[in-house]
Amino acid sequence: MMNSDNNPIDSCSKKNSNEFLSKVIAIANQKGGVGKTTTAVNVAAYLGHYGYKTILIDMDPQSNSTSGLGFAQNNISNSIYSLIIYNEDPNKAIIETPYENLKLIPSTKQLSGAEVELVTVFKREFRLKEAIQKLEESYDFIIIDCPPSLGLLTINSLAAAKDIIIPIQCGYFALEGVVQLLNIIDMVRRSLNVKLEVEGVVMTMYSRSKLADSIISEIKNHFGDKLYNSIIPKNVRLDECASHGKPIIEFERNARGAKAYDELTKEIITGYKDKVSSDKDAFTF
Ligand code: ATP
Ligand code: MG
Repeated sequence: MMNSDNNPIDSCSKKNSNEFLSKVIAIANQKGGVGKTTTAVNVAAYLGHYGYKTILIDMDPQSNSTSGLGFAQNNISNSIYSLIIYNEDPNKAIIETPYENLKLIPSTKQLSGAEVELVTVFKREFRLKEAIQKLEESYDFIIIDCPPSLGLLTINSLAAAKDIIIPIQCGYFALEGVVQLLNIIDMVRRSLNVKLEVEGVVMTMYSRSKLADSIISEIKNHFGDKLYNSIIPKNVRLDECASHGKPIIEFERNARGAKAYDELTKEIITGYKDKVSSDKDAFTF
C-alpha cells in the first residue's frame, strides 16, 4: 500500500486526527458514459489514501464501480439491492477492499429490478437514505455512484446525499441534459431533501482542442466557482485500470489521469475543510 508521507504536497490533504466530516456525495449525471464511475472509484480511493474513512456505494445495476474495485458479481451475496428492498443491515453488505480506508457496498444485476419494485414501496424515495443513515457516523465520506437515468435509483441517491458532484464530458453535447438534471435537483431539493447542493462540476475526458476549451468556458459561465480547476484528461490508463479492477492510484500513480484525480480529490477535501471552518465561524459569536 502506498504511503502518502512520501509526497510532501500530499500532507496538506491528509486527515487531521480530530477532523470529522461525514459527507454523503452523489456522483450524478443521467447522461451515459460521462465518467461518473471513473470519478466515483478514483475519488473514493484517493479520499481513503488521504486518511478519510470512505465507503463507495454502487447504485448502478451495471455494477461498474463493483467491478472497478475488482469484485465479481457471482461472489456477492448481499448487495445494495438487499438494503433498499429488504431493509437488510448495511453492515452485512459492506465489502472490505484491499485499498486504504476504502469499503464498498456492491451492486449486482438484480438492482435493475429495484427500479420497478420500488414503485409500490412505502417511502420509496427514501430507501437508500434510511439504509445508510446508520453508516454516517462511521465514515468521513460516503460516495454514491449513480446510474445513467433519472429513475428511482438516482432519486434515492439524491434524497440520501448532502451534495452532488456532476461529471461532464468535454464533448460537443456537454451541456445536453445538464439543464434537465438541474431541474431534477431543484425538484428533489423542494420536495425530498432541502439540504441537497451541487458541490461541484468536473470536466472529464479532456483532450486539447479549440472546441474542448470553448466547451469548458461555456460550462464555467454556467457554473462559475462550482467548476473544479482540475480537469480530467482523456487517459487510456483510466480505462485500463477499470478493466484490471483497480483504482488508478494502485494501477499507475504517475499517469496523467492519476494526477488529475489526485488534484480533484484535494480540491474536494479543501472545499469541505473550508465549509467546516466557516460553519464553525458561524457558531463562534
Ligand atoms: P454510465 O453512465 O454507463 O454509468 P459513467 O458515466 O459511469 O457511465 P464511466 O464508466 O466512468 O462513465 O466511463 C465511460 C467509459 O470511459 C469507461 O470505459 C471508462 O473506463 C472510460 N473513461 C472514463 N473516464 C476516462 C478518461 N478520463 N480517459 C479515458 N477513458 C475514460
Ligand atoms: Mg457508471
